[in-house]
This record gives sequence, structure tokens and C-alpha cells, in this order.
Amino acid sequence: MGATIIDGRAAADSILSECAAQIAAAKGAPPCLAVIIAGEDAASQVYVRNKVRACERVKLRSQTYVMPADIGEAALLEKIAALNADSSVHGILVQLPLPAHIDSKKALLAVSPKKDVDGFHPENLGKLAAGLPSLWPCTPHGCMRLLSRAEIAPAGKRAAVIGRSNIVGKPMALMLINAGATVTVCNSKTPNLAEITGQADILVAAAGRARMVGAEMIKPGAAVIDVGINRTENGIVGDVDFEAACAVAGHITPVPGGVGPMTIAMLVANTLQAASA
Ligand code: NAP
Repeated sequence: MGATIIDGRAAADSILSECAAQIAAAKGAPPCLAVIIAGEDAASQVYVRNKVRACERVKLRSQTYVMPADIGEAALLEKIAALNADSSVHGILVQLPLPAHIDSKKALLAVSPKKDVDGFHPENLGKLAAGLPSLWPCTPHGCMRLLSRAEIAPAGKRAAVIGRSNIVGKPMALMLINAGATVTVCNSKTPNLAEITGQADILVAAAGRARMVGAEMIKPGAAVIDVGINRTENGIVGDVDFEAACAVAGHITPVPGGVGPMTIAMLVANTLQAASA
């Protein structure tokens, strides 16, 4: 039996169409997303281009600030402060990674929590932990929407999250906990990883290790959400061995075409949320 594929492109399309309808129906100037990119990281440039394209599609205004790789930390923080103070800007995104000489934590802390459409500010993460409304990090938020699209309710289920980063693993675990799942969060030192993942009804892989999740690590019938983006000789692959996993899982997201498009759609949705707050 083959797993049902959860189509992230179709899910993202429908979220973007809803956002476009909301923007078209609203009076006045559309909300505005400001994107700061510093340096010349090739992958970052692709991500920013895709985010700007999504804004154009829904007729959201966007401003991209391309900073030189050698921009000083003070100058970057000054730019963020100016955007915080600009009432015509509703969302601010600082594209990571920043050049090595800049403290990313300082930059992310400088973004006003009200305009933090990436959901990385500790105030937003703290609210998420407390179960209060906030701007949620886009990637795990997108994963939750994919589960909901597949009509998989986390309540009463066992979930395992591979990865404990502040931008994916931890907020993912918090969202699943808030939704009533019993969650185990794994990291690179977790012993007997396969034993844990093998009991999970919902398995989220966010380790950044190409095809590390084999069929033997998946509970039959489980929903497998593959967040990983790994560039290999054979192109981009996820953290899950997709072909093998399809034979065991009940639902699965592909890479590409799964979580990736949802991250961008949730960024647009977060910008509308920030504008309406
Ligand atoms: P990260 O900061 O490098 O975190 C990776 C996490 O995985 C760490 O907690 C690490 O454990 C854990 N890990 C690594 N190897 C492991 C192993 N063999 N067994 C168990 N845990 C392991 O990465 P990230 O930013 O969270 O991103 C994770 C992946 O998602 C990457 O491939 C990234 O490109 C992708 N991503 C995709 C999207 C999207 O839109 N689809 C968005 C964001 C990220 P330790 O803490 O012990 O080191």
C-alpha cells in the first residue's frame, strides 16, 4: 500500500489564494513586507526571490533591502530600527544566514515582535509556549496546516520531532503539544532514535541529514512530514528516504513540493496577521 502524498504546493496555493482575496477585499494600501538580505549566499537569494514572488502574486507590497556582505552590525540594526518605526511596513524579515561577523541573535531580537513575521522573536516564541496568540514560525506553522489538510488531528497521538532548532524543531514541538499530541523531541545525541520514531503516529523530520529516516524508523500508517532540504549530487532531497517511506507511511510530504511552499505561504499569511493586529 502506498502512502497518501500531502501536496504542499496545492495547500500553499489555496492559502495564497485566500490571502489574495483578503487583500483584494480590504480598503486602502495593501500590507507591506520588508525583507533584509545581507551578503551573497546563493540559497538565500533564491529564497528571497521566491518570497517576493509570492507577495507579488497576492498583491502584497514588498521592499527588499540588499545590504553588502561587509555591512556593519550597527548599520544593520539601524535599518531594522527604521523599519520598526515605519508605520507603512507591517512585516520585517531578516534573511538568514547573516554574514559571520554579525550576531544573528541581536538582529532577530531587534525586530519588533509585532512585525516579526518569521516568528523568531523570543516574545513570539514565549507566547507560543504559553499557548497565547502570536506570530508563529512559518515552517512549523506550515507543517501544522499540512496535517490539518490531511485531516490528521494531533490530539491523542504520539509525535516525534527530529531536530530541536529554535526555528523548526522547538516551535514544531510546541505546536504539537498545544494541539494535544504527546511529543518527543530528538536531537543528534538521542539514543535509540529509531525506537522513538517507530512509535510515532506523526513524525516530523527536521535534522538536515539527507534521507536519514528509513522505512524501518517509521510506524506503519504514520504521517511523515519531511522538513529537510539537502542539496546532493542528485538534486534536493529531504531527511526521509521518500521511496522507502512511501511503502510504510500512511501520509507523507514530498521534497520538493511539501513543506517548502508552505513556509512561503505562511510568511504571507503572517504579514496579513501582523497588519491586522
Ligand atoms: P539545524 O539548526 O541545523 O538543526 C538541526 C537539528 O537536527 C539539531 O537539533 C540537531 O541536533 C538535529 N540532528 C542533526 N542530526 C541528527 C541526527 N542524526 N539524529 C537526530 N537529530 C539530529 O537545522 P534547522 O534550521 O532546524 O533545519 C533543519 C532542516 O530543515 C534543514 O535541512 C533545513 O534546510 C530545513 N528547513 C527547511 C525549511 C522549509 O521551508 N522546508 C525551512 C527551514 C529549514 P543537535 O541539536 O544535537 O545538533
